[in-house]
Amino acid sequence: MKLITVGSVAFDAIETPFGKTNKIVGGAGTFISLASSFYVKQQGIVSVVGDDFPSETIDLMNSRGIDTKGLQIKVGEKSFFWSGKYHNDMNSRDTLVTELNVLEHFDPIVPDSYQGCEYLMLGNLSPQVQRTVIERLNIRPKLIAMDTMNFWMDIALDELKKTIALVDVLIINDEEARQLSGVYSLVKAAKIIRNMGPKYLIIKKGEHGALLFHHEEIFFAPALPLEEVFDPTGAGDTFAGGFMGYLAASNDSSFENMKRAIIAGSALASFCVEKFGTQKLTEISSESLNNRISEFEKLTSFQTK
Ligand code: AMP
Repeated sequence: MKLITVGSVAFDAIETPFGKTNKIVGGAGTFISLASSFYVKQQGIVSVVGDDFPSETIDLMNSRGIDTKGLQIKVGEKSFFWSGKYHNDMNSRDTLVTELNVLEHFDPIVPDSYQGCEYLMLGNLSPQVQRTVIERLNIRPKLIAMDTMNFWMDIALDELKKTIALVDVLIINDEEARQLSGVYSLVKAAKIIRNMGPKYLIIKKGEHGALLFHHEEIFFAPALPLEEVFDPTGAGDTFAGGFMGYLAASNDSSFENMKRAIIAGSALASFCVEKFGTQKLTEISSESLNNRISEFEKLTSFQTK
């Protein structure tokens, strides 16, 4: 197995200036694995849902090469539920509800067929669970990337730091980088966070793109200027899924290839925000993805002479 994704598979209820949803399918693991499936044709997911979770979504995952043996279904229990409301700028949001439900006592199972995976993407989940998955893999994957959020910094900072120390790439947003490092400058924050363990740090800045830090090098990728952002939920996860899917499919985790992987992730994220939830990710083709990647190339290429 090339890639394993760990992360919430969940229900979300979202409110944006453009509208409101009831419970729809979401979850970090869902967005990540759907995004990476554009590049990796065989991958596994480790997560948990209740028996209220739609089997159609699991079928959809399977049809896209996402093996769900590691997705536990707890009979009589409810899936994780998150609800958020976006401000008018669409860059900031308030969490209204976080119901852990099945995630509260989640003991991740790594199926035998997932052993030997080369790339591991630890999506947003409790840092203890993220670390347990690393410990349950017999061989350390070639590259481990991790996403997290302020929620875990607020309630489980020590656990979070222990897990961060074990990963190669940390992917967080600017606010989270400031909270984790305790400093405002992102360049200073990057130094402090990379001293916690990860060799690579990606700081996402929403509609202002993303920064990749490694040693003394910094790479910047813009976000595609879009006329309309409908729902940013899952954009960060989609970015991470596209990034890791690209690296795993090309089997190259050099800094140069990470730049290309960031553009792949940014292109997928630019689609994700065009509709509520995971809908847009299920509609686009590889061709439209490649066209969008070309738009990024045009957006950023210039000559100095
Ligand atoms: P993003 O917009 O990329 O930050 O991701 C949003 C997704 O993360 C939603 O689909 C939620 O279901 C999921 N999510 C929100 N809070 C948590 C949490 N504390 N743990 C795990 N997943 C979460």
